[in-house]
Amino acid sequence: MQTFPIVIVGGGAGGLELAVGLARNGHSDLLLIDRTPTHIWKPRLHEVAAGSGPGEIDEIAYASLAEKWGFAFQQGSLADVSAEDRTITLAEMTQDTQSHVVPPRRIGYQALVLAIGGGTPDFGVEGVREHAAMLDDVEGAKALFSRLSHRLPAHHANNTDRPFQIVVAGSGATGVELAAHLKTDLRCAALAPHSDLPPVDVTILEGADQILGGVDDEVRSVVKDQLETTGVRVETGQQICKVMANVVETRSGQTFKADVTIWATGTSGPAIAGDIAALETNRKGQWRVRPSLQTTRSDAIFALGDCCSNTDATAPTTAQAASEQAEHLIDALPRWLENEPIDAFEFRNKGTLLSLGDAGTVGTVKSWFHTDISINGRLAHAAYRGLYHQHQFRILGPLKGSEQFAADLFERAAGPRLKVYG
Ligand SMILES: Cc1cc2nc3c(=O)[nH]c(=O)nc-3n(C[C@H](O)[C@H](O)[C@H](O)COP(=O)(O)OP(=O)(O)OC[C@H]3O[C@@H](n4cnc5c(N)ncnc54)[C@H](O)[C@@H]3O)c2cc1C
Repeated sequence: MQTFPIVIVGGGAGGLELAVGLARNGHSDLLLIDRTPTHIWKPRLHEVAAGSGPGEIDEIAYASLAEKWGFAFQQGSLADVSAEDRTITLAEMTQDTQSHVVPPRRIGYQALVLAIGGGTPDFGVEGVREHAAMLDDVEGAKALFSRLSHRLPAHHANNTDRPFQIVVAGSGATGVELAAHLKTDLRCAALAPHSDLPPVDVTILEGADQILGGVDDEVRSVVKDQLETTGVRVETGQQICKVMANVVETRSGQTFKADVTIWATGTSGPAIAGDIAALETNRKGQWRVRPSLQTTRSDAIFALGDCCSNTDATAPTTAQAASEQAEHLIDALPRWLENEPIDAFEFRNKGTLLSLGDAGTVGTVKSWFHTDISINGRLAHAAYRGLYHQHQFRILGPLKGSEQFAADLFERAAGPRLKVYG
């Protein structure tokens, strides 16, 4: 059995930044594990869902990053964690046919970091898993793209005058961004070669009395106006009780026609969390961590990002928070391995930015004096793109990060942002 001083499971927004950051600081004797061979920054999944081609969204192979920064990488899916003998087990891996099987693997650690992200809760609502699309991972985003690609032309072929109906369940940042992108970018960018395809109506159904719970009132009001202007219908106080193939039903007794339903009702812990007896979960199924990001039951097991929740102070489930937690652990982990004391993690909110497709970008950023400044238009768009470029700089280094930045600028100017046909 191989043993590493540091094992990181999950190479997403937080885990990958942690692996690269540690390696860049001279602690490259670590193993990164991810269930997929390539990394995609999750906040770009709605672009994948809308059909961006392989060249338009940067998929970066973990193996090449591992080679560049000098750490080890293994593809595998976490199956179990043992705190007692400090080992993890990766599930059996099968490729294509049963003839190529990687048996379950056990790997030893001195310090383990769990960074496997979360999922979307279905709240036990009937029909969600069967009929609704979710943007939890690349496969989910591609499946949504495939649904849109097939159902839009099929709808048109039926010669109906009725617009194509998309229902988005949930009005958090993901739901609102998706709804605006689908309404504003889908037709003009995606369907230009098929301009006789039907108009698309998008409805957001929100169970609470207002959209974007927890977001600044000023931002909420601007977003509401933008959604109204773009023609996205927003229905608040509508708790969904059943999702069917083409209809969504709410507790108020209303039904909404839905050619495609997208479920975007927030974040819960990863499906596997409840199966791991060594660790404690909260009611959302996230691993409970202490302020130091050590899990409540084991000093040697840390967690960051969407898969965990701090028992004292909750950081939001965002890439921004996962990245800050990674930065914290880049400093804390080597010190913990040397038996030195480590500090508590403190989340510093740098603002909220929402990209609404052709309707623009809005949000708040923190000023140098820590007050919120509301921004929109080009400045907000630049700040939004800046989040992604910071991530690229962190994982690729300044030189390669700048090249990617330039390539991204060029691609964005040249190609459509959302399309239904590749
Ligand atoms: C459409 C969309 C838009 C968003 N927009 C924003 C935004 O604008 N700003 C923002 O800050 N946040 C945004 N978010 C939220 C943000 O993407 C997440 O909060 C962030 O990615 C969480 O980072 P993480 O490192 O915890 O997990 P993730 O980035 O989800 O990474 C988890 C990694 O773990 C791997 N993994 C999963 N299970 C296993 C397993 N069993 N074994 C091994 N590996 C596993 C996955 O393959 C993945 O690589 C958005 C999310 C979505 C869906």
